[in-house]
Amino acid sequence: MLTVHALEAAYGASQALFGVSFDIRDGEVVTLMGRNGMGKTTTVRAIMGQLPLRGGRVEFDGRPISGLPPEKVARLGFGLVPEGRQIFPTLTVRENLVATAAHRLKTPNPWTLNRIYELFPRLNERARQMAGTLSGGEQQMLAVGRALMTNPRLLILDEATEGLAPVIRAEIWHVVERLKAEGQSILLIDKTFSVLKRLADRHFILEKGRTVWSGSSADLVNDHDRVQAWVGV
Ligand code: ATP
Repeated sequence: MLTVHALEAAYGASQALFGVSFDIRDGEVVTLMGRNGMGKTTTVRAIMGQLPLRGGRVEFDGRPISGLPPEKVARLGFGLVPEGRQIFPTLTVRENLVATAAHRLKTPNPWTLNRIYELFPRLNERARQMAGTLSGGEQQMLAVGRALMTNPRLLILDEATEGLAPVIRAEIWHVVERLKAEGQSILLIDKTFSVLKRLADRHFILEKGRTVWSGSSADLVNDHDRVQAWVGV
């Protein structure tokens, strides 16, 4: 569904991506791994049209999307849970969830508030609470719920479990597992090696803005020493 080929991108004069290539097939869970500053978030920004490309191409459902403005890209079916969550703090939980209504993809089995509340019962309990007053874990759940409400073809989680308590992390991973079982395509940016090798189908490692390794979860385990050197797990 998504093909990223030899992607190059820069922040002004400072080039951050020098050749990122990976692909995601329908229904797959794929990871982008690598140490801090290796270009994972920048790759997402470049795919979503938030950074101009210096080279390479991005195809979504067989259609070139490089160069499209961010609003157009988002509407093709990317549900992004950005690093730092970026929920609307002065809107209620419910208002955050319906805020994306105008951008929803038409799908046979659309997400509804009830389905989100069933997935995250805490959001139901706090539906009328200002999002800014939620705990960090609850805000992360809200960010996931909000992305799902767009009925995304591809859900992208950028460091979704970073800095959260173990019990909340487990809850988020459990939700990812459920979404995978339902056939949701997911791109995971994370460093929780023990979970990723179980949950994901394929993995790509970035080093200084380049894809330097790719393989299945079995390859990841077999090649543990090299992977460890790149990812620092
Ligand atoms: P992290 O896990 O720390 O988020 P990452 O792999 O997602 O790491 P990026 O955030 O994509 O890494 O950063 C890649 C490179 O681009 C780094 O050298 C970083 O300093 C640089 N960079 C990121 N954002 C900006 C920006 N807004 N302006 C200039 N340079 C940036």
